[in-house]
Amino acid sequence: MATEKRDYYEVLGIARNATGEEVKRAYRKLAVKVHPDKNPDDPRAEEKFKELGEAYDVLMDADKRAAYDRFGHAAFAPGGIGFGREAFHDPFEIFREVFSGTGFGGGIFETFFGGAGSARTEDQRRGSDLRYDMEIKLEEAAFGATKQIEIAKLDTCDECGGSGAEAGSHRIGCPTCGGRGQVVSSRGFFHISQTCPRCRGAGEIIEKPCQKCRGEGRVEKLSRVKLQIPAGIREGTRLRSLGNGEAGMSGGPPGDLYVVVHIREHKIFQRDADDLYCEVPIPFSVAALGGEIDVPTLEGRAHLKVPDGTQSGQMFKLRGKGIVNVNGHGHGDLFARLIVEVPSHLNADQRRKLEEFAALCGEDNTPMRKGFFERAKEFFK
Ligand SMILES: [Zn+2]
Ligand SMILES: [Zn+2]
Repeated sequence: MATEKRDYYEVLGIARNATGEEVKRAYRKLAVKVHPDKNPDDPRAEEKFKELGEAYDVLMDADKRAAYDRFGHAAFAPGGIGFGREAFHDPFEIFREVFSGTGFGGGIFETFFGGAGSARTEDQRRGSDLRYDMEIKLEEAAFGATKQIEIAKLDTCDECGGSGAEAGSHRIGCPTCGGRGQVVSSRGFFHISQTCPRCRGAGEIIEKPCQKCRGEGRVEKLSRVKLQIPAGIREGTRLRSLGNGEAGMSGGPPGDLYVVVHIREHKIFQRDADDLYCEVPIPFSVAALGGEIDVPTLEGRAHLKVPDGTQSGQMFKLRGKGIVNVNGHGHGDLFARLIVEVPSHLNADQRRKLEEFAALCGEDNTPMRKGFFERAKEFFK
């Protein structure tokens, strides 16, 4: 990004002495507004979303915030004053954390201190991301479409609502470790602290696991996902459908669904970026005399004036009849290559007329042929 970085406080629209709660509130308010999924037409949406996540990331962390207050953005420049190596968190990850209600405390803690003391329970894991390959028609790619896909995936168990606990049963403090998540064993003078084997460090267990999902909080289900295909989308584009991946374990946040878009070959048009190409056969008389022909476009027919003396293979441009640019940079063009069709199966009448025509022309009316033989002379010595 070559543009100057905006002040983080300004990005969030808060005062320099804002509390953590105020930072979080400002983030929540803005994040839903600038999220790329909500702004498919804004080419800068991802950038804005990233900027917002970065501001949140820094201002929510006491050390990073102190460094930023002292040194500004230089605190995070590569090879800079200390945080340079520390990459910012993935903005989508931040979004998920803030909105899944777990807060970001645990996440940051884990990243910096290797998980010790993390408040996040270990069995509440985020669901996996999924990939789905989808084929669409060229028309759908050109004009955009709403598609519904069906995928089999691990989804929230509706028996227990994803908690993994039988109705009326709760999560209770782990009796083995007394809710600490760690058990201490003594060896001589040493006290060794280990992750509790029963709750795997979570500090709590499910009293009675849900029978349907065996306490996992999710079951395999066929789910329908609605997708918005933006107009002008190109082959191989990866769309991210937030939260539509696998459900998390025991109420953890869901993964995302990545849909890779493939565009089916079209019977008439070939696509190159935003431009379309097609071949249009025209009668030999129209090529010679000139005239008007119909050219197919994705929106219907267009008229094309063919000048007299048009040669086979000549390309004509129909401005703006290509595909809309997905980032809003106008329209591509349509290139029609005219193929002159030589009449065959002539009847006697037609043949006689053509012979007359040929006799009238002699060698006068074939400039291309003449030029060719001029150039080829040296080979015919
Ligand atoms: Zn269940
Ligand atoms: Zn335990």
